[in-house]
Amino acid sequence: MDYVKLINCMRCGMCLPACPTYRETFLETASPRGRVALIRKLQEGELDQSERLLEYLSLCLDCQACSSACPCGVNAGELVAEFTCEQKSDAGLNFMEDLILRKLVPHPDRLEASIVPMRFYQNTGLQKLVRTLGILKMFPKPLGRMEGLLPPLPARPLRQEIKEITPALGKERGTVGFFLGCVMSLVFSEASRATITLLSTLGYTVITPRNQLCCGAPHMLAGDLDGLKEAAHTNIKIFGSCEVDFIVTDCGGCGAELKKYRHYIDVQSSSAFSAKVRDISQVLVLHADELASLLKPLPLKVTYHDPCHIAHCQGIRAEPRELVKRVPGLEYIELEAADACCGSAGTYNIVQPEMSDMILQRKLDSIRESGAQVLVTSNPGCLLQLKKGLSDHLPAVRIMHLTELLALSMSQ
Ligand code: SF4
Ligand code: SF4
Repeated sequence: MDYVKLINCMRCGMCLPACPTYRETFLETASPRGRVALIRKLQEGELDQSERLLEYLSLCLDCQACSSACPCGVNAGELVAEFTCEQKSDAGLNFMEDLILRKLVPHPDRLEASIVPMRFYQNTGLQKLVRTLGILKMFPKPLGRMEGLLPPLPARPLRQEIKEITPALGKERGTVGFFLGCVMSLVFSEASRATITLLSTLGYTVITPRNQLCCGAPHMLAGDLDGLKEAAHTNIKIFGSCEVDFIVTDCGGCGAELKKYRHYIDVQSSSAFSAKVRDISQVLVLHADELASLLKPLPLKVTYHDPCHIAHCQGIRAEPRELVKRVPGLEYIELEAADACCGSAGTYNIVQPEMSDMILQRKLDSIRESGAQVLVTSNPGCLLQLKKGLSDHLPAVRIMHLTELLALSMSQ
């Protein structure tokens, strides 16, 4: 780890109010400043690496709200993630990680086949029965949490259904490559279908290569840098062989990871690849007037939750809001602390359930106070976490991906 990144912290504390775990605990060890200090002391040999210290660091969500707040450019979340990645990388993959990251994720066919039993579980009514009888209480808690987060799955993943080339409607203005995120394709295929429809309606030919791979974010989480680099190389090669103006994604997490490829692979093609990556809101906003002319009234009160990977990691805040506000008849309400993490954070909601629930509760309180009927967001992790939170505590509030809302307005 680069020591200079650690000593840049001048301990001003401006990051403290932004940090979700500090807000819940008021503990210095659960703050960005404290985390940077812990890693620094470790590097300087003044602290030993204890279980307790690793526990403190593992409470970080890597939401990067601290980097948005820091006047010195310190990114405590990224430093913790880098530290954790190094630790895990030294330890190597365990059996489950190896199975998921090496045997399933790099093979979309196998990954898709692995969720067939879950679809069967939902479609046969078994899920309803298991939930009614509370059978999962007899199993380890993480399994119950994972099951609880599982929304109804689409009949087929989008990757199996979508044509590799979706032609532009009307006069063609350009060509884009569409990056299918694993969770978006497997779970939120309707949202990605809406994304492709919007792009083609606005005159883009959309190329969706079927052999593209996961962005590599799960590999990074598990410290599997080789797996991450393999995924990056493959995706760069695949999209590099298509003549595209942009590589578009509707998944905040994938977008943040794809834009970082140039940091992992020191080749010219990775810089060219990352420079073309755009969140869908960045492309749609270029044609906001034309899009607005296609939208029909939706008399709904709508609010927006900023995914950390979009607001803090990519600095995208105005574009999604502008697009939502373009829908006629819609009343936009700004959410209190809209860019505060929802507690999803990859697998955080499974491995840190208590802290995740506290953070989620704050977000649900803001949504309740906003009086919104619809919550819009654009990241699969947030969609899973907030969908579950809303169905448990605010069932009258619907959650939609940004592109689903726009496509709904267009179809009225
Ligand atoms: S991380 Fe940044 S904002 Fe936080 S204490 Fe250090 S310098 Fe200040
Ligand atoms: S990444 Fe998030 S949880 Fe971690 S220190 Fe920064 S603000 Fe706190």
